[in-house]
Amino acid sequence: MKIAIVGAGITGLTLAYLLRKLGHAVEVFEAGGAPGGELATVEVGGEPIERFYHHLFTHDRFMIGLCEELGIADRLDWHEPLMGFYAGERVHPFTSPLDLLRFGHLSLPARVRLGLGTVLLQRRRSYAAFEDRTAAEVMPRYTGREAFDKIFRPLLEAKFDRHWEGVSMAWMWARLMSRARTRTPDKRRERLGYFRGGFRVVVDALARTITERGAALHLRSPVQEVTIGSPGAPALRVGGQAVDADAVVATVGLPIIRRILPEERRDFTNSLAATNYVGACVVLMEIERQLSEYYWTNIGDRSLPFAGLIEHTNMVERERYGGQRLLYVSNYLPPEHEFFHIDDDALIDRFVEPIQRVFPRFAREQIGRSWVSRDPVAQPVIAAGYQRRKPAYRSPIPGFYICNTSQIYPEDRGTNYNVRIARECLEVLDGDAPELTRR
Ligand SMILES: Cc1cc2nc3c(=O)[nH]c(=O)nc-3n(C[C@H](O)[C@H](O)[C@H](O)COP(=O)(O)OP(=O)(O)OC[C@H]3O[C@@H](n4cnc5c(N)ncnc54)[C@H](O)[C@@H]3O)c2cc1C
Repeated sequence: MKIAIVGAGITGLTLAYLLRKLGHAVEVFEAGGAPGGELATVEVGGEPIERFYHHLFTHDRFMIGLCEELGIADRLDWHEPLMGFYAGERVHPFTSPLDLLRFGHLSLPARVRLGLGTVLLQRRRSYAAFEDRTAAEVMPRYTGREAFDKIFRPLLEAKFDRHWEGVSMAWMWARLMSRARTRTPDKRRERLGYFRGGFRVVVDALARTITERGAALHLRSPVQEVTIGSPGAPALRVGGQAVDADAVVATVGLPIIRRILPEERRDFTNSLAATNYVGACVVLMEIERQLSEYYWTNIGDRSLPFAGLIEHTNMVERERYGGQRLLYVSNYLPPEHEFFHIDDDALIDRFVEPIQRVFPRFAREQIGRSWVSRDPVAQPVIAAGYQRRKPAYRSPIPGFYICNTSQIYPEDRGTNYNVRIARECLEVLDGDAPELTRR
């Protein structure tokens, strides 16, 4: 069977790898000049670092399993970094349960209620009862209103912007469970994984393996349209040329799929519009001085124009980057937000004074090189009832398949689950192979 894959991010590359293992012919079409998608990197001191911050959790078994297969699992190091939470004009330690008990931004009764509510939530073994309910409705009943308003609501707003109120409680539960499961046995810290050589080692290993095994990886080849060829099989239009295949798998976000599918399939593409997305707008910068001891500082103050400050070199030693210190300024915003349109320097200017409010040691002059990255289709909004809207791998268009981040549910999207959906989609495709090749 010949399969054309749209997109060479981790999903497209993993799917290509799995399909080649089963002996199928594979062509991957990637719009950009390098594979990797959201795992794109720059180099600092000769070491690759992602333009969008990344780490793994200890239970990310699909990703860890893939790395074992590719022979790169020994490149994964585990770190136990410190976390902070900015609220009430100061950064509070936010790493351990003890930090939570001492969290001065909440009253003592609110802290006790939060601690008990968190334990109760983590005792639940299933998210089934949460699927049709929002986190905004359910969370305050567990954590208390004060903790919800001061901690969880700002976190939901930071991640989903104006869509926060509709977010599914199943997503919230999965996220809390995930963070709890990655804790050290004594529960005092989280263990986070990061590769020597950055996540680029995974992208490179996949790209190398699939091409060595005979798959074609076409870079700078944006798919312009998916058409339906004469025997009913799908075809792609790439650079004005038609490419035939027995099946096409789109790994790009739903808004991109809607653009490349033919006009006459509006019935189907309109149904995909039910899933909203927020974009990611992230600045990575070299900074002269260490700003704090925290790897990740959540911003619980919505008057600041960012959601998180991530001092990467408080997790990974800066010697790897030629001694440079590295800070990410993170934001999830609707794609029409001005941060997706203003120029890079103007964007950084907007952040300087607010970063100083969080970390008074910071100054504009301390910024070395910087990289602004924007992905308007970064994060599907997992709203209550999403289990009924989640797109299937097999679409109603014969031979056209979807395998993308919108199918990750209820977990928060991440590379581990991109590998899982690639495996699941493979089963569907392989099962359909006799029918697809009969046309
Ligand atoms: C800010 C941020 C932080 C994150 N943090 C983490 C983390 O800590 N841990 C973790 O595991 N995950 C994290 N993720 C998520 C992770 O990066 C993604 O889940 C994953 O990289 C998505 O891979 P993908 O292949 O599905 O999509 P993408 O990486 O988006 O790949 C899609 C590819 O399709 C290409 N493309 C687009 N249009 C076309 C077209 N018309 N024709 C051909 N090609 C096209 C794009 O150029 C891209 O290369 C983070 C993501 C973001 C944005």
